Amino acid sequence: MDCIFCKIIEGSVPSKKIYENDKVLAFHDIQPAAPVHALIIPKKHIETMNDVAEEDLSLIGDIHQAAQIVAKELGVAESGYRLINNCGKHSGQIVFHIHYHLLGGAPLGPLNPQA
Ligand code: 5GP
Ligand code: ZN
Repeated sequence: MDCIFCKIIEGSVPSKKIYENDKVLAFHDIQPAAPVHALIIPKKHIETMNDVAEEDLSLIGDIHQAAQIVAKELGVAESGYRLINNCGKHSGQIVFHIHYHLLGGAPLGPLNPQA
């Protein structure tokens, strides 16, 4: 399958790993948008959040658990961080294997700068 994140999981594309267990993998984003920018992905290939089936729901919990671990590991658990999933065209999703961005390490600003 031609999926960059599946290739990272199988090891044919290198990544800077932060955390891994049998269900999920976390690694540094190649083009960081903040001082800390990790990606947390399920090892199962699921294209978008719209494709998460009932049987996959526990994976979402596994990802959130991994996010806690990654935040501690990268020293942002106390200072705070943002966890983002992009789904579909308007979100700007470019990799169609679900992933959560964990961003932190500096104030990220409000979601709505006008607010
Ligand atoms: P999206 O816009 O789909 O939510 O974000 C995809 C993210 O994956 C982007 O932040 C991009 O920098 C990251 N990315 C794309 N290809 C690679 C890669 O080969 N390695 C790593 N570590 N990150 C990647
Ligand atoms: Zn994939």
